[in-house]
Amino acid sequence: MTRSKHLDLRKKIIATCLRMNSEGINQGTSGNVSARIEEGFLVTASGIPYAVMKPEHVVEMDLDGGYRGDYLPSTEWRMHMDIYRARPEAQAIVHVHSTYATALACLRKDIPAFHYMIGVTGGISLRVSDYAEFGTQGLSDGMLKALEGRTACLLANHGQICFGPDLDKALWLAREIETLCQQYWAASLAGDPVLLNQAEMSSVLRRFKSYGKQSSELAKGQVPAVLAPTRRDVSQSTRRRG
Ligand SMILES: [Zn+2]
Repeated sequence: MTRSKHLDLRKKIIATCLRMNSEGINQGTSGNVSARIEEGFLVTASGIPYAVMKPEHVVEMDLDGGYRGDYLPSTEWRMHMDIYRARPEAQAIVHVHSTYATALACLRKDIPAFHYMIGVTGGISLRVSDYAEFGTQGLSDGMLKALEGRTACLLANHGQICFGPDLDKALWLAREIETLCQQYWAASLAGDPVLLNQAEMSSVLRRFKSYGKQSSELAKGQVPAVLAPTRRDVSQSTRRRG
């Protein structure tokens, strides 16, 4: 029964896992991916290599710790469940042990606003959670605290986790977090990065609300993140829609 249920979403979860490995932000089966469904969420199974993962290996879970089917969910199912419970805006989650994010997570220090793109977390820093052992409620509790007002965080001596409105955006964010960690690593090796102040980051966060959106996607009255160039291939009267 579960085999055909949510088939497209199961396939998309597997495709996301394959992409995170081929793009070099995860190794082996250490990461995991999930997506929200009406009844709870779908999450990758425990210990099955993504290259051989089939739709039936994606496990359906409810938001009370129950699962269906013959396969056990990822050992980190609790982190996924607790995000879906606590953060209604989360539709998809990516957790990876990407190299630079994990390396910096071992220092147990928040990553400050050394670059304006730190605003992709939704705040002025990339927090690191308190350490707790993998698969435990303690890890999940620390993660939720580090995610307050944020959509991504580092997990002490472990890796990173982030969520988004869909699988593509969650994977994009995981990649951004890894890139930021690599950049912070390099900048810190070269010297002491000059940090952006609160006012500078407040401005960035305000503009990020419309960052990357086409004009047709902006809410009524929403100002674009940057002043757009002038469109030449349509007449003045229809230009606005471009
Ligand atoms: Zn992990």
